Amino acid sequence: MSQSCPDGSPVKAIPEADGIRHGAAPFRPEAGPPSRRASPRAGACRVRTLRASGARGSVGADLRRQGCRSVSYPAIPAATGPEVDARAARYAIVPDGSGAMKIDALVENLYYPAVLASALGLGLVLIDAGLPSSLILTTTGLAFAVLCFAMERRFGEAEQWRLDGVEARTDILHALVSNTIPTAVFRALFLSAIVGVSGWVTAALGFGLWPRGWPLLGQFAFALVAVELVSYGIHRVLHRSRLWPLHAVHHCSPRMYFLLSVRKHPLQAFVTYGGRLSFLWLLGIPEPALTLLLVYTGANSYVQHSNIRMNTRAFSYVFATPELHRLHHSKRESELNANFGDVLILWDLLFGTRIAPRDGDVIHDAIGLPGIEVPQTYWSHLRLPFEWQRLHRDAAASR
Ligand SMILES: [Zn+2]
Ligand SMILES: [Zn+2]
Repeated sequence: MSQSCPDGSPVKAIPEADGIRHGAAPFRPEAGPPSRRASPRAGACRVRTLRASGARGSVGADLRRQGCRSVSYPAIPAATGPEVDARAARYAIVPDGSGAMKIDALVENLYYPAVLASALGLGLVLIDAGLPSSLILTTTGLAFAVLCFAMERRFGEAEQWRLDGVEARTDILHALVSNTIPTAVFRALFLSAIVGVSGWVTAALGFGLWPRGWPLLGQFAFALVAVELVSYGIHRVLHRSRLWPLHAVHHCSPRMYFLLSVRKHPLQAFVTYGGRLSFLWLLGIPEPALTLLLVYTGANSYVQHSNIRMNTRAFSYVFATPELHRLHHSKRESELNANFGDVLILWDLLFGTRIAPRDGDVIHDAIGLPGIEVPQTYWSHLRLPFEWQRLHRDAAASR
């Protein structure tokens, strides 16, 4: 991330006096301004990254001493206290109206709708070109993964959510296993039976349940609204039943980053994908509509988990935006058991489980599972549901 001072000279990340090295002189708010900092100049400054809420006042005072008339901040964790204040308070500033700030603002406001619109457009073009569904899903999945990876490298929001090598390797294994085998097994076991039931229902009713005469985009919208009810129901049951340890695998990372979207225990993937596919097959969904839905939901899931600051408030009464889904990954029970929507927030609104972040409330340090910490290897994730009780007993004993 490139930063510059109000006078255009480069600014390094400046650590607070906690011994964490970032290649710049220590910043001691009580002891005066840092030795390496922006030159005094009147103007507005924007603090680009700031990890500790306790440092906000000191950083602001420091910048004002340097001549900034007004200082704006990124959203920072609401929590304060010695443990927060002791961590690194990295900050960098960009001047108002600079190119870097304009690009940041564009990403913040347009990244989410742009990715979703591109997924829809790309899906439509590739389906129209007559490519096989498996090829479309593989190429779009890889293309959006590369895009999200590059965007997180360039515009990553939270330092503590940066892609970790161990977790990345684990999630690639999750992608290779959970995104392929459970669906293939479910398809082999149940597809013909469910299609048979669907045909029988159509014959009994005298008409088909699927709006085959609609254009592909209309069928996509129909599929989305219909399947979201099933996704909502399954997701809520996963949180509120004995199946929670299976779904807890998806929630066990302390980070939010795009690859987390593919993390699912294979047994949970079998339940979730199986439930969604069964419903759509029962309704009689044609292959092109299913392909378009899967391209879109895949891209949505990547962007929903991305470590990029996105202002998606305008969409958050229709869609399960990244801001809403972050709350769903919180350790706090009241937030964890809310916002169950996959793509849409419609059913959360209807059933009263939608919650939204309050102003300035960011939960960078509150992501993960309540009560336990889980090793981030693939085998630990596979074993998690079967070691659930022991992990909780060990955690309780160590407190
Ligand atoms: Zn969940
Ligand atoms: Zn998630």
